[in-house]
Amino acid sequence: MLRMSTLFLRTLREDPADAEVPSHRLLVRAGYVRRVAPGIYSWLPLGVRMLHNVSRVVREEMDRIGAQEVLFPALLPKEPYEVSGRWTEYGDLLMRLKDRRDNDYLLGPTHEEMFTLMVKGEYSSYKDLPVMLYQVQTKYRDEARPRAGVLRGREFTMKDSYSFDLDDQGLQRSYDLHREAYVRIFDRLGMDYRIVSAVSGAMGGSASEEFLAAAPTGEDTFVHCTSCDYAANTEAVQLKAAEPVDPSTQPALEVLDTPDTPTIDTLVEVLRDQGHDVPASGTLKNVVVLLRWPDGKVAPLVVGVPGDREVDVKRLEANVSPAEVLPFEKFQDFPQLVKGYIGPQGLEGVRYVVDPLVVQGSSWATGANVEGKHAVNVVMGRDFTPADVVPAAEVRAGDPCGRCGSPLEIGRGIEIGHIFQLGRKYADAFGLDVLGPDSKPVRVTMGSYGIGVSRAVAAIAEQAHDEKGLVWPREIAPVDVHVIGVGKGEQKAEAEKLAAALEAQGVTVLLDDRPKVSPGVAFKDAELIGVPTSVVIGRGLDDGEVELRDRRSGEMRTVPFEGLLETVLTELRS
Ligand code: ATP
Ligand code: MG
Repeated sequence: MLRMSTLFLRTLREDPADAEVPSHRLLVRAGYVRRVAPGIYSWLPLGVRMLHNVSRVVREEMDRIGAQEVLFPALLPKEPYEVSGRWTEYGDLLMRLKDRRDNDYLLGPTHEEMFTLMVKGEYSSYKDLPVMLYQVQTKYRDEARPRAGVLRGREFTMKDSYSFDLDDQGLQRSYDLHREAYVRIFDRLGMDYRIVSAVSGAMGGSASEEFLAAAPTGEDTFVHCTSCDYAANTEAVQLKAAEPVDPSTQPALEVLDTPDTPTIDTLVEVLRDQGHDVPASGTLKNVVVLLRWPDGKVAPLVVGVPGDREVDVKRLEANVSPAEVLPFEKFQDFPQLVKGYIGPQGLEGVRYVVDPLVVQGSSWATGANVEGKHAVNVVMGRDFTPADVVPAAEVRAGDPCGRCGSPLEIGRGIEIGHIFQLGRKYADAFGLDVLGPDSKPVRVTMGSYGIGVSRAVAAIAEQAHDEKGLVWPREIAPVDVHVIGVGKGEQKAEAEKLAAALEAQGVTVLLDDRPKVSPGVAFKDAELIGVPTSVVIGRGLDDGEVELRDRRSGEMRTVPFEGLLETVLTELRS
């Protein structure tokens, strides 16, 4: 039983000054977490219970699919991460440190390398596979923008698991098992979430999906189709693009004088004056950015997108990872980049890529690489050939779904889980083979799967609160029932008895047994802390009545004191 009289808890009436989002504000005010440094938090007793409750659900569902729990250290040697290339690739995100002998170490941001080595150390035959291993452990990432309390920490708790299979079919099975486990986990956690296609990013590999908790404060944007079940992170979304056409059927390229056309709108106008009716979406905007790789190398990149759209830097960055996208300023060093008049045709010595909306054979009005001039009928596949196709254009509500063509809707969410088919990237790096039935070595194929356990606590809070405080779902609330006794008669003694009786039935109780607290304060604290069910034993006791409060619906119901234990037990089962 948790007794408020002795519980290590101080609720706060004021919002913390640095809190931008409701979950951060309320987790601090209700005494679940305390800030230690930017992105680094301590958990107080109620918070620790939340962490344990989320971890318990995660463990139960991981165990159910046959994954086995292990535990790695957080403090890791550099070498495995050098072999995989991530010692460099992670750049500033990696927390690095040295021991007294000047050896390099890191605090693990995720553990693909270590799990691969562990399996390589223990297993050698095809008969040993498949195997799935997981841990619930502290991770470290020196995030550029730690934010919103424990939502984006620099130290955080993650459940990470890894699957090891002999072939693609096996990998698909392990992936599907994880997907099902994640659905059960987030359902049990009472979350409103979407499963969306994702970019695989620095992890490498192919298929990957994210679980996003719907929240207006989320950092991820995703699209979902209004008619089919397509849903994707905007970083990974595939819009419906025009059909490719034969470039040779297009009219010839023509260069025009177009002075004073600093914007797409002015260009459209000047072109119209010269008899070329090109909409903004028929112009090709070429945006120069600077890419910086983790090893410090930098190079400009020119990205072509339809002129009626901006470049979405987050989307671009996700697709050029591990490079970072920075503003480009040094036009003087690249005379071929004529500011305001850049075109892809004849652009040499600079990498040029297009968004997938720019297709083979499509014809554009764009810069002519000469001050004051643009060109029309510039055709991809005839007048220019991009080095690559990189999703970079902003995605807008109403854009056509890449699968069925219906309009897309845009939502915001918090990434709470991520499942990847890694393939053989790490098995190749570490030579993870097992002997096949014919005694020939078989390269193992892997999956990697993460859930942000500490982030989930905040993401649930983000979805489950009102102006008065937190409103936890039953399965992970810090306790099952909050019992409050107020009054000068037998109320406190009866509250004690009820709490003891509930605990004897295996129900966890938070008992407000503080001797000098007014009913008002007790109720305010109860609302802030957010236990779904409260029992208030107050003045009505003299008439044989007590009150049941449901924090989720706000309902307050008078019930007879007689048979109270049964009434509460029934309520908890409902
Ligand atoms: P994000 O895009 O939010 O930075 P990520 O894609 O880098 O996350 P993964 O490497 O996929 O994260 O990690 C697995 C899970 O760990 C994520 O789905 C998320 O729930 C959680 N997580 C990642 N970074 C953080 C963080 N800084 N603080 C708390 N949880 C995190
Ligand atoms: Mg992720």
